Amino acid sequence: MTLMTADEYVASLRSVRKRVFVLGEEVGDYVDHPLIRPSLNACAETYAVAQEPAYEALATARSSVTGERVNRFTHLHQDPGDLVAKVKLLRLLGQRTGCCFQRCVGMDALNAVDSVTFELDRDLGTGYHARFREYLRHVQARDLVVDGAMTDPKGNRRLAPGEQADPDLFLRMTERRADGMVVRGAKVHQTGAVNAHEILIMPTQSLAEADAAYAVACAVPADAPGLLCVVGRQPSDSRKLEGVDAGNARFGGHEAVIILDDVFVPWERVFLCGEVRHAGLLVERFAGYHRQSYGGCKVGVGDVLIGAAQALAEYQGTEKASHIRDKIIEMVHLNETLFACGIACSAQGTATASGTYLVDLLLANVCKLNVTRFPYEIARLAQDIAGGLLVTLPSERDFQHPAVGGYLEKYLRGVARYSTEQRCRMLRLVENLTIGPGAVGYLTESLHGAGSPQAQRIMLGRLADIGSKVRLAERLAGYGETSGSL
Ligand code: SF4
Ligand code: FE
Repeated sequence: MTLMTADEYVASLRSVRKRVFVLGEEVGDYVDHPLIRPSLNACAETYAVAQEPAYEALATARSSVTGERVNRFTHLHQDPGDLVAKVKLLRLLGQRTGCCFQRCVGMDALNAVDSVTFELDRDLGTGYHARFREYLRHVQARDLVVDGAMTDPKGNRRLAPGEQADPDLFLRMTERRADGMVVRGAKVHQTGAVNAHEILIMPTQSLAEADAAYAVACAVPADAPGLLCVVGRQPSDSRKLEGVDAGNARFGGHEAVIILDDVFVPWERVFLCGEVRHAGLLVERFAGYHRQSYGGCKVGVGDVLIGAAQALAEYQGTEKASHIRDKIIEMVHLNETLFACGIACSAQGTATASGTYLVDLLLANVCKLNVTRFPYEIARLAQDIAGGLLVTLPSERDFQHPAVGGYLEKYLRGVARYSTEQRCRMLRLVENLTIGPGAVGYLTESLHGAGSPQAQRIMLGRLADIGSKVRLAERLAGYGETSGSL
């Protein structure tokens, strides 16, 4: 079975007996947990879309490894067209879910590990790449969700991993055995971890030789003994249990802390073990891919928010006001600028030595740096158009109350041809995306996901080749190497 349906995906998770904790309780049946389910629904959309004939070219691809048709989320990019298709697919799924659908992290990790293990073997004579390709066959054949796990807790940021008061604040190998290694540590901010079959662990930053034990990349099943998953809170997350007040009727995201308490990993699932020089390369490539991703997924959610703001303007009778039209156009401009960046870094992608294509890293970092800002402005404009009712609207239960429901229905109506319920639902959606649990995915994740803004600025400084720009200026100013003498 190379392509699962959404229902088959949900059923497949039931046999992954991972240990999940939510609000202080260990949850046996995490698949049906009402706080998890919206995120599972969103991840399941990555399967649903691959079943639709209209999206076959976008959501599936011919595997370069097996020749089978696979879900694009398990595919290695074979040309710039694959990179562009990825961004378009992510936009489509952002539009369909209005939230983070979680599966891109694994796709980005698979692509990054592929090219880095190839180059690692070439440089050092190791044998990681064939192992990794075997693992990829396993993932593609079963159409698995892989959680790409990069971010370590990092403790005192001034100190290197081995200098920390607690050596486990960065994930590390604690034991090397004949048949594999043992890892201990934690990964934080793990998008969609509960909905994953597999965890693909990567190092969190560049490392010095002294920290070789921290240069670890490996894959573990999500229910490996010693692995614990603790779901993080989101603002107003209990709204997910509250019908209309939830805002997003079916979908949501989640992040979790993963704890690996001496987890055993057989050698065939180890893809980096002590080679510090390639740890930094892996981080840079994964980050590049994920910074590209945001030029798709956040744009799709932006489309939803623009649509919600326009709908509210129509429900309230303000849609023809020139300042409202200006604001909607401004939102479109910002949103499409993000998309343009996602497409540009994809179209400019180049082949790595393994044959897998990599985005243009400079443009991918520009993409993500814009993503750290523009969704906030789009959200501000949506709140401006929505008006104060966005945060003063009574609950659905008040609307159902016999004493006040009728009054609320009467007095909170906008333009007569739209129902009060329509207006309330749309207000709740904007609330969800800009203040509620959806704002985790649309705003805070835009800021910090795939690296905080400073990480992108550092990459721009490294990749921009500012010296060559100085030489261009010097030449036109009439001096410098190609100008002749003054
Ligand atoms: Fe995918 Fe976007 Fe969620 Fe990252 S934030 S996993 S790119 S949907
Ligand atoms: Fe993310």
